[in-house]
Amino acid sequence: MRGKDVYFFHRVLASARQKVAQALVNGEALKVSGGNYKLAQHNLKCRSCGHHWEGTIHRRRTQCPSCCGKNWQRIEPINANRED
Ligand SMILES: [Zn+2]
Repeated sequence: MRGKDVYFFHRVLASARQKVAQALVNGEALKVSGGNYKLAQHNLKCRSCGHHWEGTIHRRRTQCPSCCGKNWQRIEPINANRED
């Protein structure tokens, strides 16, 4: 990156950090848009019915696709092949 690009990149990053920090401190919602991004997928297990599934984690919204329960837990695969 050239000097001007680095400067611009750091300004964008600083602005994003401030927005995230403000949202966390004030309990506000964050909306992410633009660009390509993907939420991490996790192995989840329902504590109510025992159903296993793979999905994204959202503390309040994630629910069991089988019984719609919100009492779930994240489980890590035994042989995790991480690509990142
Ligand atoms: Zn369930």
